[in-house]
Amino acid sequence: MDLEWNGATTRSGYFDEIIEIGAVALDDSMNIISEFQTLVSPKQTKKIRGRIKDLTHITNEDLKSADGFVTVFKRLKAWIGTGDNCMLAWGNSDISVLYENLKWYNMIDEIYIIKNYCDAQLLCQQALNIPLTKQVGLAAFAELAEVEIGEDQLHRALNDSRLTARCFAKLCTPELFRIFVKKADRIFYERMNFKCYNLQDLSDEQIVFSDFMTECPDCGTFMKRLTGFICKNKKHYAKYRCSVCGRQFNISHSLKITYDGLEHKKSLTEIGCVQANEEAPETVEQSSDDAVQNAAE
Ligand SMILES: [Zn+2]
Repeated sequence: MDLEWNGATTRSGYFDEIIEIGAVALDDSMNIISEFQTLVSPKQTKKIRGRIKDLTHITNEDLKSADGFVTVFKRLKAWIGTGDNCMLAWGNSDISVLYENLKWYNMIDEIYIIKNYCDAQLLCQQALNIPLTKQVGLAAFAELAEVEIGEDQLHRALNDSRLTARCFAKLCTPELFRIFVKKADRIFYERMNFKCYNLQDLSDEQIVFSDFMTECPDCGTFMKRLTGFICKNKKHYAKYRCSVCGRQFNISHSLKITYDGLEHKKSLTEIGCVQANEEAPETVEQSSDDAVQNAAE
């Protein structure tokens, strides 16, 4: 499935309003057996933004005769049917926008017509050993994977659905599918909608103090923290020293709250070496939080 949407500013905030839905259905052998395409007349912002018009070539005129989302979704639902299924899309923004639009029209339970979800982008990138943290666009990926793009205009919902299906059909294996398919249940959407954030306050009770202790990358000894924490760009920095080999590091701690809880990531930068017989600099400042200070020492 692929969607096109237009940024709508409403009284209750910004919202990505769907203006086109495209989808193809694949059978077990990855053949396209049916297609769905329709424009959706926007109700919140009638005017299509310039950037969207340039990208999709969808005009205000085109949308005039289209049905609204509620009617179109009924047709989509009939096309999907009630059997088991798995939605494929390039990335997770389409499923997220579909969810938002259903929520907007108080139809959120309708989302469960989709039984499973597979991010075709992640699966395809994994198949070509492209790091999953890298976001490769559909057209760029198709070129990399030598999947024919043809003459079809991209950034139109049906054409992008077809191209996603061709990339997926070429690269999917049963093993990869098992890894990337997710049950599209309530928890799936809760996780999708969870807004991750970085902890700035070191006295937050979610912090695990022992996580600040860091082993020397060279000899494995727990290092002594020499300074208090300085918070910069949502990360917490402090200097550490290994009392065995004398190496000193600047360590940044990133404390991110995700749906699954606290994610504590560290990155070490070596800043020199003070021999064991030399005096290491004294603690230069006290952390505002004694518990963190004590735990790390
Ligand atoms: Zn060491």
